[in-house]
Amino acid sequence: MPIYEYKCRGCDRQFEELVKLGETPDCPSCGGSDLERLVSLPAVSTQRSRERTAGIARKAAGEVSREKKHAQAEYERNYIKDHHS
Ligand SMILES: [Zn+2]
Repeated sequence: MPIYEYKCRGCDRQFEELVKLGETPDCPSCGGSDLERLVSLPAVSTQRSRERTAGIARKAAGEVSREKKHAQAEYERNYIKDHHS
């Protein structure tokens, strides 16, 4: 069950609540239900998406450095061609 963090718009109190899907808690302070959800991702999927994001970032970094090396080699080839022929 995900834990959500809410802020009550009525009394500005922030609280965390275990919430079943589709349910909205009431403010423990004033009992109001006009709440703003501050954290929308449950802890489990946050962890999973962090790993996925890190994987994508690593992959992207690898591709960029390969492209840089390629561009550098191209540049050197052209430089030699332009200046030494
Ligand atoms: Zn309240």
